[in-house]
Amino acid sequence: MKNIVVPLCKWYLENKRDLMWRNDNNPYHIWVSEIMLQQTRVEAVKSYYERFMKELPDIEALANVEMERLLKLWEGLGYYSRARNMQKAAIKIMNEYNGKFPSTYKEILTLPGIGEYTAGAIASIAFHEKVPAIDGNVFRVMMRLTNSDRNISKLATKKELFQELFMIMPEDPGTFNQALMELGAIICVPNGEPNCDICPLSNMCKGKKEGTISKLPVKDRKREKTIEEYTVFILLNYNKVAIRKRNNKGLLASLYEFPNINKKLNKEEALEYLKMEGYTVFRILEGNPSKHIFTHKVWNMTNYIAYVDEIDDKNIWVDFKTIGELYALPSAFSAELKMLYEEIKNK
Ligand code: SF4
Repeated sequence: MKNIVVPLCKWYLENKRDLMWRNDNNPYHIWVSEIMLQQTRVEAVKSYYERFMKELPDIEALANVEMERLLKLWEGLGYYSRARNMQKAAIKIMNEYNGKFPSTYKEILTLPGIGEYTAGAIASIAFHEKVPAIDGNVFRVMMRLTNSDRNISKLATKKELFQELFMIMPEDPGTFNQALMELGAIICVPNGEPNCDICPLSNMCKGKKEGTISKLPVKDRKREKTIEEYTVFILLNYNKVAIRKRNNKGLLASLYEFPNINKKLNKEEALEYLKMEGYTVFRILEGNPSKHIFTHKVWNMTNYIAYVDEIDDKNIWVDFKTIGELYALPSAFSAELKMLYEEIKNK
């Protein structure tokens, strides 16, 4: 395995993508980008990262920002607990490390929301610690390279691979880790054919030699997603629209949403439901249905726009011209937000 190090690092230094968080080895920059890149494509992350850094350029700014504003900056990236954990970690760094990012893998791992992969990435890139950073890309490259059918969903496999990579860590562990990740991201790709023809490791790749690439890596089958039905109401009263805050625990905790119920209602049932809730509806329109896919579940949403005669205190009634700027509405409700804008555009 040791013979992969030189050609891989050389390839990386000559071919790496020009990404703004790679401009320096600042641990804060690496941290924010790595958390954003979990579950989100590089292209999509670029604009979020830029906006985030402009407003929260350092750990202190992140520790002090209002949660509401932080969630707004995170809006669209999903998995909002990541943003909350980042702030907890920033506060911990301010209190326990005098605002200086901890410099060892062991210490970094104690920060909220930072797992082994992210700790490995920060420790190796920013502080040159010889520690692996194993993400899905690294798993895929390594299992194919060694033609290994070990199940990567098993903790034991991760531990073994950690040890194997640890043994071959070069003097510049940050470059080596990034090179492995980059190879997995742009050459040894997950779906479809990997680009073995231009892979710097193709002459030592056992999976390629044995013709097993398409079967590797081996992992547990994904859990089936549960399907949930919702009816969502865009309630309008003059220039106001109703939103409410979700529970402070569970999915999309503490974020705003349009009023909804966990049930599919046809137009008559929707009207009946609103009446029971105490509204006098003088116009109801059915919008296009929408769908939002989470990691483990799918929301099918039936949408209605309803004009009601007065506001109530069950919801927060906000000026619909400012809703998008001031409130963090998760992307689960982006189709409804679009419907709202369509409906009010001539008003
Ligand atoms: S030769 Fe192909 S399968 Fe092997 S590591 Fe390179 S891209 Fe992946």
